Amino acid sequence: MIVAIDGPAGSGKSTVAKLAAHALKFQYLDTGAMYRAVAYRALKDGIDLEGGEDLIAIAKNEPIEFGAFGPNSVSIGGMEVTDAIRTREVDVAVSPVSACPEVRDALVEQQRVIGKSTDIVMEGRDIGTVVFPNADLKIFLTASPQVRAHRRFEQNVLRGIGSTDEKEILAALIARDAYDSSRETAPLVQAEDAVEIDTSRLSIDEVVDKIVDLAQAVHARLKHQ
Ligand code: C5P
Repeated sequence: MIVAIDGPAGSGKSTVAKLAAHALKFQYLDTGAMYRAVAYRALKDGIDLEGGEDLIAIAKNEPIEFGAFGPNSVSIGGMEVTDAIRTREVDVAVSPVSACPEVRDALVEQQRVIGKSTDIVMEGRDIGTVVFPNADLKIFLTASPQVRAHRRFEQNVLRGIGSTDEKEILAALIARDAYDSSRETAPLVQAEDAVEIDTSRLSIDEVVDKIVDLAQAVHARLKHQ
């Protein structure tokens, strides 16, 4: 069973997707971390972020792994990048990198392989529209830009990485949303059959409960088919 969770930055995707996966005993995949890992590698190697052979080669040839360096770790080409992919520089670099169609093709292929092998909660921008258009359950999370910026601010303070200037975070978030929503390949759009949840006034537990209830209902229906 595939649960697709899409939505803009700061809508609460990662937090609730992780908890929902745990409650459902499903695997969890953060596809944003994959785009971030490619962007980080490109930045580190001084590669053009707007596309080109070198960028595509990273996405095609450098394996991205989760959990190889401990729970929740992310690595690319054997190098741990768990914290390094959450910096301001990567926040800015990831949008052009993820707009490159060949980079997307390479990562989507990996995401499909992972999703086909197990029950999974997969979160990103295009899971319900491109990666798994036939996902069993599609959720689209939203929240006002101010709420999303505040969440990102609290996350950055807690992690000790990224910007802690809330105005700067809001401006960066709005810019990233605009880029992600207007790009030609797999823009951030809500799938027609997605259930929209506005998380602005909901607690994390309330959102997780809603998703788990929906997933359990779909699971029961699938079993009876
Ligand atoms: O989810 P997160 O904010 O970490 O994603 C970082 C960036 O990766 C997004 O702003 C977007 O540009 C890109 N992304 C994407 N498709 C996905 C997941 C993330 O284009 N499925």
